[in-house]
Amino acid sequence: MTTFNDLQLKPELLAGLQELGFTIPTPIQSSAIPLLLQGHDVAGQAETGSGKTAAFGLPLLHSLNTELQQVQALVLVPTRELAVQVRQELKQLGKHIGNLKISAFYGGHAFSQERASLAHPPQVLVGTPGRLTDHLNRRTLDLTHAKQLVLDEADKLLEMGFEEEVDQVVAALPPSRQTILFSATMSEGVKELIADSLQHPKFVKATATTI
Ligand code: ADP
Ligand code: MG
Repeated sequence: MTTFNDLQLKPELLAGLQELGFTIPTPIQSSAIPLLLQGHDVAGQAETGSGKTAAFGLPLLHSLNTELQQVQALVLVPTRELAVQVRQELKQLGKHIGNLKISAFYGGHAFSQERASLAHPPQVLVGTPGRLTDHLNRRTLDLTHAKQLVLDEADKLLEMGFEEEVDQVVAALPPSRQTILFSATMSEGVKELIADSLQHPKFVKATATTI
């Protein structure tokens, strides 16, 4: 059986995983992580609780450049609760990576505080569509160095009516990026979003929840 040690992740990440008590990757993690480390765009379908955060989070943390203070990875999530939760899990996974800043931007946070914090941009930014488009419209956020985009809970992003905001955020990133989409279901809307935002995606699907 695959363990995290077989996935060729940085030792700093293996230390974070060990502290979290994660030893065996979940099915979505063992199928998505190698593809993401190879640089593919990935569209993944797996139910809630199947470990999707670490499935995109580990490759993302593995490949970013901590010497560079620019937003290198953007994670789009539908709600502020998820923004807080995903940031927290990424922070725990990346705890042993030096010089790493992860921020979460969402409605209900003071916009001015977020803008001020961008004087020292995080390498990883987690945010909700409304708040991120506010920053883009007010030209306070530079996404031109972003190399990775994660659309997390894509079905919910669309169900909640964020299609336009998602399109605007996607358009603000360089086309040469890696794009990762995770969803619990593959609705027609999600399939369209994949067709519009991902390049030659690999599809991964995990049905059983094993945590
Ligand atoms: P999803 O996004 O698919 O709903 P999460 O990424 O939030 O699921 O993970 C669900 C829970 O499982 C979280 O508490 C997370 O810390 C835990 N978890 C994730 N991967 C593993 C693993 N490989 N081993 C043990 N626990 C894990
Ligand atoms: Mg999730």
